[in-house]
Amino acid sequence: MIKKVNHIGIAVSSLDAAMKIVKDVFGLEVTGVEEVPSQKVKVAFVPVGDTRLELLEPTAEDSPISKFLATRGEGMHHIALETDDVAGDLRKAEEAGARLIDKEPREGAHGTKVGFLHPKSTFGVLMELVEEPGEHKS
Ligand code: ZN
Repeated sequence: MIKKVNHIGIAVSSLDAAMKIVKDVFGLEVTGVEEVPSQKVKVAFVPVGDTRLELLEPTAEDSPISKFLATRGEGMHHIALETDDVAGDLRKAEEAGARLIDKEPREGAHGTKVGFLHPKSTFGVLMELVEEPGEHKS
């Protein structure tokens, strides 16, 4: 079951520059910086109330974020919805006719399980489903 917006992903060319903006402009603190090899990105999480911004910097030229930056520049990349059953909700989305990027959950940052839906199926917005560690309900 989907519960809330877990985070909003923003593609940046420099994580250091973006973290400075977040601190100087908004007075927000970055909590975790982590490399996610499966997605070829380095991420920084910035808590905002009970949701977060996820700043994404590519770590390789064939990273999906490299392609995004090359074609569109820095900007909003995806919205992540939190669920207690990422595998089940991916299945439901597919049954409802959505095109999936990930048919099976994969490793996300901070021990999460994640799966992406194709933006063509969801009003042009890349949507991520994310399950926090220990949240699995079924
Ligand atoms: Zn994300």
